[in-house]
Amino acid sequence: MAGNKKKGIIQTKGKAGNPTNLPQKPRAERALAAGLPQKMPSKSIAPAGSSAMLPFTERLLQWHNEDNHRLMPWKGEKDPYKIWLSEIILQQTRVEQGLSYYEKFVRHYPSIAQLASAPEDQVFKDWEGLGYYSRCKNLIFTAKTIVKDYKGIFPDNYDQILSLKGIGPYTAAAISAFAFNKPYAVVDGNVFRVLSRFYGVDTPIDSTKGKQLFQKIAAENLSQTKPAIYNQAIMDFGATQCKPAAPLCGSCPMGDICQAKRTGRVMSLPKKEKTLQKKNRYISWIVMELQSADPVLKPNKATLDNKAHLNKKADRHPPLYYIQKRPAGDIWENLHEFYPIETESVPEWSLKPSLLIRMLENLLSIAPSSGPLSIEAICTVTQQLTHQKIHGYIYKLCLTSRPSIFPINNWYSAKKVNDLAFPKLLKNLQIEAIPKQK
Ligand code: SF4
Repeated sequence: MAGNKKKGIIQTKGKAGNPTNLPQKPRAERALAAGLPQKMPSKSIAPAGSSAMLPFTERLLQWHNEDNHRLMPWKGEKDPYKIWLSEIILQQTRVEQGLSYYEKFVRHYPSIAQLASAPEDQVFKDWEGLGYYSRCKNLIFTAKTIVKDYKGIFPDNYDQILSLKGIGPYTAAAISAFAFNKPYAVVDGNVFRVLSRFYGVDTPIDSTKGKQLFQKIAAENLSQTKPAIYNQAIMDFGATQCKPAAPLCGSCPMGDICQAKRTGRVMSLPKKEKTLQKKNRYISWIVMELQSADPVLKPNKATLDNKAHLNKKADRHPPLYYIQKRPAGDIWENLHEFYPIETESVPEWSLKPSLLIRMLENLLSIAPSSGPLSIEAICTVTQQLTHQKIHGYIYKLCLTSRPSIFPINNWYSAKKVNDLAFPKLLKNLQIEAIPKQK
């Protein structure tokens, strides 16, 4: 927790069996480096209990050390009673609302024994206004259980904690990690979102399969030696950096290896089963046109039209367009598309394009110093598929330098774009967005 911040906590040990004793890159990182499809490996990405840190964990702890400024009164708390109190109060309650209740409970009932022996009417009175009164009922019941069965001492065993009334896997993991520094990974809404986006996992988080998968990913990423710090860091990261509606991708320390950012799925992850069943989907496609004489963009055989490049009379390279493949497991798998941003409903920038500019500056990490972006709304398109209706909003963005998050091989000349397979919806609009090249 924040109160316990220490410098220099990150250590990556060499793995056994690696004769060079250099840290071997974990599988997830190797996949990223190799530009492999953004699927979460189905098998473990790190051996359980491995001391080698995954890149995600390493960067998260570094961020926590250097940039996590989130303050909350219970951060750094080691008393399991107070941690339990704060977790129960914060269930279905915003931090700002829960704060005064937490302070009142700690003041009125400084120990489990005092809570257990307090008149119930008084405890309910103190809970008044917080709602979900079953939480208060369970709080009293569990305080009495701990006094009766554990001599008033909060158990430090995960299974015993989990067996207490009103305590589920999340709260049991939080108490085990924060109070007793045991290696249990918390998985709450923030954690689902961060892991789903970072690894590009689109398994619905509200499905049984999704819950198990994310629990596994969370456990694999957990720092075995600093579980309390790791758990606090990932929750704070989700609350302040990888936020639901306006994630700060532009300043994100994970930006260059984040799958959602790389594949334009930041706003559509995490997925929920409910969302998948939805009949309407709203996708903004950004046709990114890059005008540049930057030598780093010298066309290569694999992607570009060499004849155009070899025209010595031309002052500049022909414009290039960013194209990526549709992800596996979704409509139009393996076909191509422009940079997509999927939203839950009609995008707010359809009425106010300046909002899209701000979003893109952030997502693409474009520094304001490179000049204001200009965006042109091309058209809106719809397509009725068997189970869903796609609402497409097409924009054109002109760039003078390549956003570093996009690999160079994803930039194509207009002629080459023409040779790629697109879904019908996007194939038609190419004619409007990309000028024909002779
Ligand atoms: S780059 Fe954006 S989506 Fe990815 S982890 Fe960072 S804030 Fe979250």
